[in-house]
Amino acid sequence: MNLNEKILSRLKQSELWTNKTRESGSTIQGLTCPACGSIGAGWCYTSGPMSINCNRLNQCGARTKTLELFNIRQNIEKDFAPIKGDPKRPARMFLESRGLKTSLKGLKYYYQQNVRKTGSGAVMFPVAKNKKTGKTVANGRLLNPPQGEGKTHNSGSTSGHYWQHPGLEYDPYKTTYIVEGIIDALSLIELGHQAIAVLASGQDPAKLDLSFFKKLTLAFDADPAGSKATKKWKKHFPEAAAIMPDPGGDWNDLLCSGPLEQVRERFQQNLDRYHVNAELALAESAREYAEIFADFHSRPPGLFEHDGCTFFAWIKKRGDDNNLVVERCGRFTLKVISYLKDTSNEDQQYFYQLQITPKGGRPVKVIASGRNFATLPGMKEFFLTRAKVSYEGAASSAVALATRITSAKQAPEVLRMTHTGLDVKSGWYVFKDFGVDTTGKVHRPDKRGLYKLNFREWA
Ligand SMILES: [Zn+2]
Repeated sequence: MNLNEKILSRLKQSELWTNKTRESGSTIQGLTCPACGSIGAGWCYTSGPMSINCNRLNQCGARTKTLELFNIRQNIEKDFAPIKGDPKRPARMFLESRGLKTSLKGLKYYYQQNVRKTGSGAVMFPVAKNKKTGKTVANGRLLNPPQGEGKTHNSGSTSGHYWQHPGLEYDPYKTTYIVEGIIDALSLIELGHQAIAVLASGQDPAKLDLSFFKKLTLAFDADPAGSKATKKWKKHFPEAAAIMPDPGGDWNDLLCSGPLEQVRERFQQNLDRYHVNAELALAESAREYAEIFADFHSRPPGLFEHDGCTFFAWIKKRGDDNNLVVERCGRFTLKVISYLKDTSNEDQQYFYQLQITPKGGRPVKVIASGRNFATLPGMKEFFLTRAKVSYEGAASSAVALATRITSAKQAPEVLRMTHTGLDVKSGWYVFKDFGVDTTGKVHRPDKRGLYKLNFREWA
C-alpha cells in the first residue's frame, strides 16, 4: 500500500465519507469538512488527497491536512517499517508524504533509527566528507520530533558545507535558489527549479564556495530567522536576487498545496509577490515596509510587524492627497494561540489565549477576555499589566488589532472541560494523559495538551 492508498482507505473508513460522497473525475466531492463539520462541503484530489478543502470559502475555506488528521505521519515508522531489501522505507514514505516524487530520483539518503534517543527516526542526507576524519557529514530531519526536540539532525558539523542534489546536473547560468533546509530545496527542485541548501540559517556565507553558481536567488523561510538570513546573505551576495514564501508557509507547504502542475504555474504567477515578500523582509524601516507593500498591493498594509515591533499603516485623505501614515502600536509582536470557550456557566464566554513577544524579550502567554479589547484604555491597561509592554497605538489600530485577534484563522477553538472523566455532550472520556472516544479508541493529547475531536478540539 502506498501513501495515497493509505490516505484514501482511512478517508473511506472515516465519518467524513458520507452517502453524499462521490468520485467525479480527478476529485472526490461531497465529503464532510473536518474543520466546520459542514456535510458535503469538503472535497479532495483523488490522485493526491493531501488535504480536504472546504467549499464554503467565505465561512470556512479550511484546507485540512489529511496526513495529520488521520495521524498517518505520526505512524509512518510503524506502518512503513524498514523491511529486507528496503531499509529506507520509512524515510522514503516521509519524503513522499511531503509531496516529493520526481526529485527523489538519484537522491542519496538513508533512514536512521531512534535519533538522539528521542524515539523518532530521521531521514538523513549525506552532505560532504570531513577532510580530517574522512567521515561523512550528513544533515537531515526527524520524522516525528517529540515536543521540545529540534527537528533538525546533524551527523558531524555542517559549518562550511552546503547540500546539492547528487542526481541533478546543475546549470551554472540558470537561477539557483538558496534555501536553508534540504526539504525546501527538494520542494523547489520538484517544482522544476534548481536549488541548494545551506543547512542552517546561521551558516556563514563567507565559508561557502558558491562560485560555480552564476545566478543566485536567496529563498529563505518567511520567519524572523529567514529574514535575518536574507539580510546576511544579501550583504555577502549583493548581486543575488531574493524571494520569500508567503507569511506562515514554506516552499514545501506550497508544493503540498495542490496538484504539481497547478502549483508550478502558481509559483510562476506569484514570483513577483515572492520578490516583494523578500523586499519587505529587507526593509530598513517601518515606513519603507509600508511603502513597498502599498506600491505592490495598491492598499496600505494595515497592521504589520517589522523589526520585532507592531505597526499600523493607513491612508489619510487630505483634499486630493492620499498620505500613507505609519504609526507604531508597540514594541512587541502578538500571536493568537487559541480561542477558549468557557461553558462552565450559562453565558458562554470567549477567551483569547495570546502569545506576546516584547522586542528582544521572551514570549509570554496570556489569556484575554473580550473586555480587554473593547476600548482603547482597556487595551492599554491590559498590555501594561499583563504583558509588561506599552500599547502606543491610537483607536483605529486598536480596532484593527481586536479584529485580527478575533479572526485568526489558524487558531483552534478550544472547549475547556470543567472536570475529567465522562463528557456527556461528546461521549468522550477525557483524562490528563489520554482520552477515549465513542468507539473506544484511545487518543493522546497533542503538543498543546488538546484532544482533536470530530469537528472541534477539547482541552
Ligand atoms: Zn469547512
